[in-house]
Amino acid sequence: MPLKKEYIESHIQKYSPSLVSLGYLEPKYGWGTDDGKEIYRFKNFNKLYICPLCAKRVVYRDEDFNSFTNEHGLIYEFTKDHYPPKSVGGSTTMMICKQCNNDFGGSIDHSIEKYLYSKALANGSSIIEYPATLTLEGLPGFVSIHTRLISKNQIQFIVPKNNKRVIEFIAKAIEANSSDNTTFTLRLKKPPEDAIFCRAILKTAFMQCFSTWGYDFVFSPTGERMREIIAGQQNHPSKKYGIYFLDRNYIQDEGIYSFKVNKTVTFYLVVIKLKLIKYNIDHEFVGAIIPENTEEAWRYISKLPLIEQEVSITTPLYKVPNYIDQMNYFAFKGENRMYYHLD
Ligand SMILES: [Zn+2]
Repeated sequence: MPLKKEYIESHIQKYSPSLVSLGYLEPKYGWGTDDGKEIYRFKNFNKLYICPLCAKRVVYRDEDFNSFTNEHGLIYEFTKDHYPPKSVGGSTTMMICKQCNNDFGGSIDHSIEKYLYSKALANGSSIIEYPATLTLEGLPGFVSIHTRLISKNQIQFIVPKNNKRVIEFIAKAIEANSSDNTTFTLRLKKPPEDAIFCRAILKTAFMQCFSTWGYDFVFSPTGERMREIIAGQQNHPSKKYGIYFLDRNYIQDEGIYSFKVNKTVTFYLVVIKLKLIKYNIDHEFVGAIIPENTEEAWRYISKLPLIEQEVSITTPLYKVPNYIDQMNYFAFKGENRMYYHLD
């Protein structure tokens, strides 16, 4: 379904000022379009929205506010992206290009829900149903079922209704088990890789940063680096990608916080609230640590400890205001920060 005009327009209105101001400040940015030419030839930045994730595909509004096209007059398809995904409680959306939505939706977004499933299972949750395969010694093939942990040593099989093959298979397994000669094996579906989960969380954090700093973040060295990490084109200097589950007693509010790790390095902590909607399991708070715009900060992040348990950060946190909403652009520039205002 095509996006509503108002939805596209609201994004252009909200984010193009940060592009305009960035354009005045840094005319050297080589923003690329699909054909490799610079976005700079767009005369009016205030009619422009660039997909924050690829920083390539654009929507350009015509004089009459009637159509949204790219510079060749072609309509690029843009879509609504939930961040975090709806399945884990995401209610905020961002306009991104269809290509990015397809690419990231299929490759990383789905991993957040699955990761939370496996985490809940590992914590002994008896609520969630977890996908598994069942094989039986001496019987060819396997069946896919769902299982539920009832207690430490009791597992329930959840058999899909009317699925004859699965029902017969399980009947044989029970029969075999009672005769004591045969064994059956239950293999739980592997949780998604840490790296995939971390990239999906970083993508959500990236969107939050975009909604706070606008294009000044997207086209900053930190923003560019994050885009490549999210796309899997480069590795994160930290094995944990700067992603931590946060102690729930410690933080209860989503948002972006800044904290200093030493005299010169500032990190941002993007706090994301996740919830397994299907089972109404309690919220989890995940923090993504984003280095400020300096090489030193990026070097420092590789020294972060690899903590498995929930963490609290011991230095004071300061909430970062939403500069975009205030029309007061605080450049995301590391040490040499500056304020600039738009008339
Ligand atoms: Zn895109």
